[in-house]
Amino acid sequence: MRFPVHDIKVRGYCNGGRRNTIAMSAGLGLGSSRFALQQKAALSKEKIMARTVVVTGSTSGIGLAIATAFAAKGDNVVINGFGKPEEIDAIKTRLEASGGGKVIYHPADMTKPAEIADMIATANSTFGSVDVLVNNAGIQHVEKIEDFPIEKWDQIIAINLSSSFHTIRAAIPLMKARKYGRIINIASAHGLVASPFKSAYVAAKHGILGLTKTAALELAEFGVTVNAICPGYVLTPLVEKQIPDTAKARGMTEEQVKNEVILKVQPTHEFVKAEEIGALSLYLASDEARQVTGTHVSIDGGWTAE
Ligand code: NAD
Repeated sequence: MRFPVHDIKVRGYCNGGRRNTIAMSAGLGLGSSRFALQQKAALSKEKIMARTVVVTGSTSGIGLAIATAFAAKGDNVVINGFGKPEEIDAIKTRLEASGGGKVIYHPADMTKPAEIADMIATANSTFGSVDVLVNNAGIQHVEKIEDFPIEKWDQIIAINLSSSFHTIRAAIPLMKARKYGRIINIASAHGLVASPFKSAYVAAKHGILGLTKTAALELAEFGVTVNAICPGYVLTPLVEKQIPDTAKARGMTEEQVKNEVILKVQPTHEFVKAEEIGALSLYLASDEARQVTGTHVSIDGGWTAE
C-alpha cells in the first residue's frame, strides 16, 4: 500500500555550518511512535545555529534595518558605521534582545582597505564564519560636475564602490572554504538610471552592478550567490541631507524637491521603507534564493519601469 508522503522541513545547520533546509519524508502509514521518534531524532541532531552576517554602514537607515532583520532571525551580526558610542551600544542591545544572537560593532572606515580587511577577519575570528555580507555603506553629494569637489568624488567612489571590492575580496576565501555564502550589494535605482548632479553616486552605483555580476560568475560554483538590491528613494538621513543641496542645485524649494523631484520619479509616489529592504535581504540570503545570483532586484515603486 502506498501512503501519501509529506515533507517535514527542519531548519538547521549542515554543510560547513550553513543554515540549511533538511527535507524528511514521512509516510503517514508509519506507526505514530516511530514517526515521532524519527522527527525527534532529526530535531535533536539539527541544532538551529546562527549565521554570521556583516552589514556595512549599519548604524543608520537601510543598513540598520537590514541588520535588524537578520538579528531578529537569531543571526550573529557585525554592525559597522559611524555614530555616538552610546547610540551604537543601544543598537547592539536592541538587536541582541530581538533574536538572541550576538551583535558586535566594528568601526572600520569604508575608505580604509586595511580596516575593512580587519572587520572581515574579526567577524570570522569571533563567530567562525562570514556567511552573509551586505555591502550597504554609502554617501551622497549633489553638485554640478564642473563644481563637484575632487575629494568628494574620491570619497564616494571609495565608500560606495571600492569598499565592496575590499569586503568581497576578504570574504571570498572564507566563503569558498565553506562552500557557502551570500553577498548582497545595496546599489540603487541610480545603478540603472542617472539623475543630474549625482555624477559620483551614479558612477559608483553602476559600478556596483558590474562588480556584482563579475563576483557572481567567479563564485557560482562555490555555493556563493552575489546579488544587488536597487532601492528607489527611502527617507533616511542620506536622502534628508540631499534635499537642501538638490534645492540649491535646481533652484527649487525643499518641498518642491520632495514632491517634484523625489516622489515624482516613483510611480507609487511613496517612499520605499527601509524594513522592506531588510525583508528582501532576508530572501536573498535564504536557501530558497540559492539559484538567484548575478542579478539585481529593484525595489523602487516602479521608478525604473518607466
Ligand atoms: P544613511 O546615511 O542613513 O546610512 C549610511 C550608513 O553608512 C551609516 O551607518 C553611516 O555611518 C555609514 N557610513 C558612511 N560613511 C562611512 C564610512 N566611511 N565607513 C563606514 N560607514 C560609513 O544612508 P542610507 O540611505 O541608509 O543608505 C544606505 C545605502 O543605501 C547606501 O549605499 C545608499 O547609496 C543606498 N541607497 C539609499 C537610498 C535612499 O533613498 N536612502 C536609495 C537607494 C540606495
